[in-house]
Amino acid sequence: KSTARRGDSSTTQDQASSRRTPILELRAVSCAYETGRPAIVDISLCALEGEILCLLGPSGCGKTTTLRAIAGFEPVINGEIVLGDRLVSSPTAFVPTEERHIGMVFQEYALFPHLRVMENITFGLNHLTREAQRAEADRLLQLTGLTGLDRRYPHELSGGQQQRVALARALAQKPVLLLLDEPFSNLDPDMRGKMREDLRRLLRETHMTAVLVTHDHEEAFAMADRIAVLNQGRVEQVDTPEAIYHTPSSPFVADFVGQADFIPGTVQNGTVLTELGTFPNEGDYPVGMQVVVLIRPDDVHIMPSKEGLGRIVSRQFRGSENYYRIQLPSGRPVHSTESSTSIYPIGTTVQVRVLASHTVLFEKRLVQPPPTGTNEP
Ligand code: ADP
Ligand code: MG
Repeated sequence: KSTARRGDSSTTQDQASSRRTPILELRAVSCAYETGRPAIVDISLCALEGEILCLLGPSGCGKTTTLRAIAGFEPVINGEIVLGDRLVSSPTAFVPTEERHIGMVFQEYALFPHLRVMENITFGLNHLTREAQRAEADRLLQLTGLTGLDRRYPHELSGGQQQRVALARALAQKPVLLLLDEPFSNLDPDMRGKMREDLRRLLRETHMTAVLVTHDHEEAFAMADRIAVLNQGRVEQVDTPEAIYHTPSSPFVADFVGQADFIPGTVQNGTVLTELGTFPNEGDYPVGMQVVVLIRPDDVHIMPSKEGLGRIVSRQFRGSENYYRIQLPSGRPVHSTESSTSIYPIGTTVQVRVLASHTVLFEKRLVQPPPTGTNEP
């Protein structure tokens, strides 16, 4: 029954994702390197069985450190890491990497250069007979799209192929969890797209649970079941890709996962008054409060008009769409994506309409630096 409690062992596990078993759990984990302040602080996350969890954030926000802590390369100074039902890291407990049964694929492919593809894949399979090793490698070669390349050396492969070998080698160990740290960042864009699709399909087919690190929100959107956005060593939001994009929990998240314009407004009588019109007072901010409305370019529509309040200041042609920058009467910019064939000259006066299915508001003080800030242009 749908009302069954979470954790009720009599219910089947495949009914709802909320009842799937957590494979990995981080509880308020902090790590610090010898130098300076902690690299990650109070990180709490979980990855459910068969789930692809993405850690997304700018360079230096602590993604790799989090992966290293999960893999057992970094001790934690606070909190707990649980794998399956085993506590593997805490300030007083530490299960070594080789007992964690975690597969890893990193940015640099880290293959054995003097071993052929086949031997790279079967490297850790000495406990199997030669026939069983061969069969397992053939299965993985096929799964990763490498059939026919088994006798090549790493230097005879493209970057994408090398990364597939690294993946096959990680999967050969039958890990309970796969960690991938920016695995596609050394590949050219075409190959990256293909690898994303193939990896996602492969993870699904093998029901593998994975934590994928990336600084690229498009990659996270394309790959993840859920995304954890990190900022300066802390988790800002954990949610589905759609929720991260449409209902970001902070201006940082809003800005990091796409173009975001923050239009100031004042709360009045249940609405928010801005130079782009009124918006619903989502979140019931008090009357008189200074807020900002999050505006995405896909919600902004422009129409050339003599009476329009906006003025086109730039256009970027992107093939499938045009990306406009509009100056509002206050001098503030707002961006708009229009169809590929909607081409208007710079300087055109336009009417600006916002058609959003929902409104996201933040307190204004969270978006602008305080008055003492020195960075404001
Ligand atoms: P990301 O993978 O998100 O780019 P990292 O986890 O590599 O971020 O780094 C997080 C923070 O820890 C950064 O401030 C970085 O400078 C610092 N850091 C990373 N590795 C080390 C190290 N080996 N020694 C000292 N500081 C480090
Ligand atoms: Mg990193």
